[in-house]
Amino acid sequence: MEKEPTIWFYEDTGGIKLGLPVKDILFHKRSAYQDIYVMEIKGHGRALVLDDCIQLTEKDEFIYHELIVHPALFTHPHPQEVLVIGGGDGGSVREILKHKSVRHIDLVEIDAEVIEVAKTFFPTVSVGLKDSRVNIHIEDGIKYVKTTDKKYDIAIVDSTDPIGPAKALYEIEFHQDLGQRLNEDGIMIIQSECPYYNAQFIKDLCIRLRTIYPIVKIYVYAMPTYPGGMWSFIYASFKYEPTDVEEGKIKARWQTMTTRYYNPKVHKGVFYMLPQFMLEE
Ligand code: SAM
Repeated sequence: MEKEPTIWFYEDTGGIKLGLPVKDILFHKRSAYQDIYVMEIKGHGRALVLDDCIQLTEKDEFIYHELIVHPALFTHPHPQEVLVIGGGDGGSVREILKHKSVRHIDLVEIDAEVIEVAKTFFPTVSVGLKDSRVNIHIEDGIKYVKTTDKKYDIAIVDSTDPIGPAKALYEIEFHQDLGQRLNEDGIMIIQSECPYYNAQFIKDLCIRLRTIYPIVKIYVYAMPTYPGGMWSFIYASFKYEPTDVEEGKIKARWQTMTTRYYNPKVHKGVFYMLPQFMLEE
């Protein structure tokens, strides 16, 4: 019997291409903001692709979502009010809701279509979006932080790459506004691209954030379906060093939930285990 030819989806960064073998295309629509695809990928479950960039696959999304959320939420002694900018797939919200102290999450997503697609095609990722503690705002995050008078313990910028509507989410003006929306012991996390290919971008972002926060730390993680494999988040805080939290305190809270990547050793390890080339740059 003849083998069926494989159709590949490639995310092409201009420098490298990451390929995923496509079994089926389940959805495609051009929204007001971006081109949205849902694909069934051989060996990876479903994938959400926005403007030709892989946002998540069902197989490895837990890595990104656990690591964008838990280092900040375990560092804060009692996180109650949380803001998520972007994150319309719901993965970050799912992880935040694992923390019993959280009373309220405002999710500010610019594109209502992403939320609908997540609810329809990614039930295990979007599961938390219907929780009564979650308030969804369909709005530009830039405008939201400028106009709201709410204060938060944690802000998570779970956005697409710094192009199109997400570009301004990496600029100083937005971060000055966002810093104003945090309590005096607040923590901010932002997804910050691949350290191999975006070293200058990360360096510049850290410089900008250090004008606002006394504590700015980068941490890295392995993401099989993002081009480059090694990706990063930036942690910024007015008060708390993420490595100062006692391991026993992390453990006591962590034992009440289920995670697949994050654990008390990973909490400290991600901050300590930076490769030399990142320390030198
Ligand atoms: N895990 C992802 C990745 O690949 O980095 C990020 C996931 S989440 C789907 C990113 C979301 O950010 C998108 O749904 C996009 O619509 C949203 N977004 C982009 N710019 C935004 C803005 N200015 N305000 C609010 N949401 C925005």
